[in-house]
Amino acid sequence: MLDQPKRIAVIGASGSIGTQTLEIIGSHPEKYRATVLAAGSRVDKLIELSLRHRPALAVIADESKHAALSEALRPLGISTAAGEKALCEAVCRDDVDTVVTATVGYSGLAPTIAAIRADKDIALANKETLVVAGSYIDRLLSRSRSKVYPVDSEHSAIYQCLAGEDRSKVRRLIITASGGPFRTWERERIALAKAADALKHPNWSMGAKITIDSATMMNKAFEIIEAKWLFGVHSQKITAVVHPQSIVHSMVEFVDGAIKAQLGLPDMKLPIAYALGEAARLDDAEKPLSLSDFTSLTFEAPDAGRFPCLSLAAKALDEGGNCACIINAANEIAVAAFLKDRIPFYGIYDIIERTLDHIERIESPDYEDYVATNDEARRYASTLIN
Ligand code: NAD
Ligand code: MG
Repeated sequence: MLDQPKRIAVIGASGSIGTQTLEIIGSHPEKYRATVLAAGSRVDKLIELSLRHRPALAVIADESKHAALSEALRPLGISTAAGEKALCEAVCRDDVDTVVTATVGYSGLAPTIAAIRADKDIALANKETLVVAGSYIDRLLSRSRSKVYPVDSEHSAIYQCLAGEDRSKVRRLIITASGGPFRTWERERIALAKAADALKHPNWSMGAKITIDSATMMNKAFEIIEAKWLFGVHSQKITAVVHPQSIVHSMVEFVDGAIKAQLGLPDMKLPIAYALGEAARLDDAEKPLSLSDFTSLTFEAPDAGRFPCLSLAAKALDEGGNCACIINAANEIAVAAFLKDRIPFYGIYDIIERTLDHIERIESPDYEDYVATNDEARRYASTLIN
């Protein structure tokens, strides 16, 4: 019997990772079929994608957009639903084998938890899920049949470097960072940067939130936390190095001194395809890299003075509990305000620090504690902005 196409739920279908995932699915109908598509509020984009990919179900998180979705898709026999609860039910359906978590921020947590409880495999793009609730997700995974395949390019690189290796022989994970648009700027100039400056990422084209996180290097702090939970490596064995060309996607150093790296162009198609294929390689997932086009690949230490958000990874991992959840929530509010030019660039770090000073710590949070911490931290960070 021929293998049936793997049935995929794409949560965050209208975004940067979501649309690239759907391009891969659309070009490989023999391997993949999108059975569920979900988006936050961009209903027109969700309708357009649904007309092209014909899922069984389309879900919009923003309930006020449901009527428009239903009117466009129901006549075609595509079911529709709205709201967070519907999103969590959608990922558990029998016609879903793998869930691609491509929503942005805290919104990824609930559907990812639902998918793990339903034993679904996960192609994890939404790093905030592991930032907010890494230890909780780790416990859930230990009781579930679901497997997590990283989509984040650095973590995909590490995953590829670890293939066939004895994990106890890992000395260090070395996560590369482009350094973002302000890598060479003086602190005084960075302080005056506007959203438009920060949105000009030198190498990657991504959603607005992660692009600002790259400019502050909060994205790298989040990736250190993400790596801890994905690979079970002690936080002191995870380092970041700035590599402005974004060709070496990350590295693993072993106890004998060997360093393995994965290289490629800055293109998310390869890590997405590798995760969808459960670590199988897809022919021509991305354009071949011509090494002779790069006269030099350079590496430098990150500067925590100009990019203070980077230091929050160590703080979050040393403290544990709900600390990273507070950082994530304050960061989301601060980034949204910076995008509207309501606070200065370093205001992002200040708001996180002041929110950390204010919100009570919980040593071993359960799910309700994360929800409450997220709510409180967002509320407090918002008052700081207002
Ligand atoms: P994006 O802003 O382009 O897309 C976000 C998607 O999430 C959209 O489809 C939006 O409709 C959906 N969404 C927003 N709020 C939602 C909600 N409440 N419920 C359901 N869906 C909601 O973001 P992106 O750049 O694609 O990033 C998505 C995730 O992938 C982020 O966690 C990011 O850190 C991670 N990631 C992205 C890249 C990249 O190249 N874009 C690389 C690595 C990791
Ligand atoms: Mg990354």
